[in-house]
Amino acid sequence: MPRIVFMNDRLVPEDEARVSVFDHGLLYGDGVFEGLRSYSGRVFRLDAHLDRLWDSARAICLEIPLTKEAVAKAVVDTLAANKLTDGYVRLVVTRGAGSLGLDPNRTKHPQVIVIADTISLYPREYYEQGLRIVTAATQRTQSAALSPRIKSLNYLNNIMAKLEGLQAGCVEALMLNHKGEVAECTGDNIFVVRDAAGGRSGRLLTPPPDAGILEGITRNAVMELARAAGIDCRETTLVRHDLYTADECFLTGTAAEVIPVVEIDGRRIGAGVPGPVTAKLIDAFQKLVRS
Ligand code: PMP
Repeated sequence: MPRIVFMNDRLVPEDEARVSVFDHGLLYGDGVFEGLRSYSGRVFRLDAHLDRLWDSARAICLEIPLTKEAVAKAVVDTLAANKLTDGYVRLVVTRGAGSLGLDPNRTKHPQVIVIADTISLYPREYYEQGLRIVTAATQRTQSAALSPRIKSLNYLNNIMAKLEGLQAGCVEALMLNHKGEVAECTGDNIFVVRDAAGGRSGRLLTPPPDAGILEGITRNAVMELARAAGIDCRETTLVRHDLYTADECFLTGTAAEVIPVVEIDGRRIGAGVPGPVTAKLIDAFQKLVRS
């Protein structure tokens, strides 16, 4: 069955969902996007995703030609048109077609596109056994160059690091910022659990936004869940040593959800198996998304 895609103001079959070769989204990566997920027919944190999309658009002076309410309806309608109750949604706003040359003022009609499909980022055994990751030599873009807080169509920085991970036989890679501090992975935020050995309750730590990260919606949900469960959770500067010596490590993202990491740069993390705090948060997250 062909997929149904929302384009600007209507639902169309996927082979009619087209953008111009003169669209600056294609020519220059000029545009913004979101990745959302629906569980049991309900979109998880739709408002937070729309707020982040609007913030990304504002940061690049892109006016989204629809209201938030209209885009929210488009997301829900596209899922329904594809008969998806558990689905992944890619929401894209491009700068629109224009003449060649960077000038966004020479473009017209930003394109609003909603694609709904299923997604399975990693096989189930990765969730049970945990991921091995490596640190990429490619640094996360500095905020002064292009803020990682903008979810833009320009993902080459992340793709360069992803390639390094794949070449090392890993499906994710850790990215450091220009100061050598831990930022995030190529498409996921990172957390560590420290001081949890010997029955101690442990602290959950994750880099702050000014480390140069995309402020993940899954990340924020996991921080709320940890605090609700009485786990001390803080945003703090982390370096690789803090990761290597952690008791547990996991990644968060809309597509990946919450996934354990058991090895970084050849160092076994904690006991080398997914830890109890990670397991508790995976469980709490699965309950939250279906609540
Ligand atoms: N960091 C980057 C670079 C991302 O692209 C993403 C989204 N895939 C995340 C973190 C996680 O964000 P979210 O939880 O909102 O999906």
